Amino acid sequence: MLEGKIAVITGSTDGIGLAIARALAAQKASIMLNGFGDPASVEALRKELSEQHGVKVAWSSLDLAVGTQATELIEAATREFGHVDILVNNAGTQHKSPIDKHPMNKWDLVLALNLTAPFQTIRAVLPQMRERNWGRIINIASIYGLTGGYDRSSYVASKHGLVGLTKAVALETAGSPITCNAVCPGDVSTRIFYKTAKDMSLRDNIPREEAIRRVAATNMPSGNAVAPAQVAALVEFLCSPAASEVRGSAMSMDGGWLAR
Ligand code: NAD
Repeated sequence: MLEGKIAVITGSTDGIGLAIARALAAQKASIMLNGFGDPASVEALRKELSEQHGVKVAWSSLDLAVGTQATELIEAATREFGHVDILVNNAGTQHKSPIDKHPMNKWDLVLALNLTAPFQTIRAVLPQMRERNWGRIINIASIYGLTGGYDRSSYVASKHGLVGLTKAVALETAGSPITCNAVCPGDVSTRIFYKTAKDMSLRDNIPREEAIRRVAATNMPSGNAVAPAQVAALVEFLCSPAASEVRGSAMSMDGGWLAR
C-alpha cells in the first residue's frame, strides 16, 4: 500500500512509535526512525526492519525537545531519502504532579516535546508535501487531549494543544490531498504499563493477569489496555486511500473511557 513512500516517525525506537514503524514498513514504506537507545541495539533494530520488509530504514537520535532539532529531523530525513510523504509525531513525555508543585522546567520539557516539536516538524515538512501533492500527518495525542486528568496539567495542556494544532493544519491543507489527524489512545500496553502491573502483582500478591486487568480497568471500562499494534493499525488506516477525507479528526481508541 505504501510502496515508495517515506515515513518519518518521531520517538520510534520503542513503544508505540516502534509499533507504527513496524506497521508502515510492512506496507513497504521506507522509514526514518528517531529516538534514543543504545546505538548497537538500535542498529540491530534498523537492520532487522530493513531486511524483514525490504525497505530502507535510517535512524536519527536528534533530541526533539531541544531547540530546532525537530526541524533538523525533517531536514535529515529529506537529505537521506530525498523527500518525506508521511509524518507521524509520536515522541512524547509527561510529568506527574499537582499544578502547584509542577516545576517550570518540566512544564517547558513536556510542552517542547509534545507540542513545539510537532509544530516544527509539520512546519518543515508541509512545503515538500505540497510540492508532491500528497501527504499524511498523524499526531499521536492521547485521551488526555480530549479530557482532563489529575496531576498532569502539562501533559493534558500539551495534548489538547496537539489536537488543536491538528485541526488548524487540517484546515490549512483541506483543499489538497494532504491530511492531518490525531490519534488519541487510552492506556496502551507499553513497557511502563507492564511494569506498573508487575509492581501491583508483587505488592498485592495477585496473579500477573489479574494485575494487568486491574491496571487497565483503572480508566478503561473494557478492562483491557490498547495494544501498540492496534494504535499502529489506526495510523496505517489514516495513511490509506480510504482515509483521504478523514481530516482534522481526533480518533480515540480508549476501551470506552470517553463513553462514560
Ligand atoms: P515511550 O516512552 O515508550 O517511547 C518514547 C519514544 O520516544 C522512545 O523511542 C524514546 O527514545 C523517544 N524519545 C523520548 N524522548 C525523546 C526526545 N526528546 N526526542 C526524540 N525521541 C524521544 O512512549 P510511548 O508510551 O510509546 O508513547 C508514545 C506516544 O504516545 C507519546 O506521545 C505518548 O504521550 C502517547 N501516548 C501513550 C500512551 C501510553 O499508555 N503509553 C497513551 C496515550 C498516548
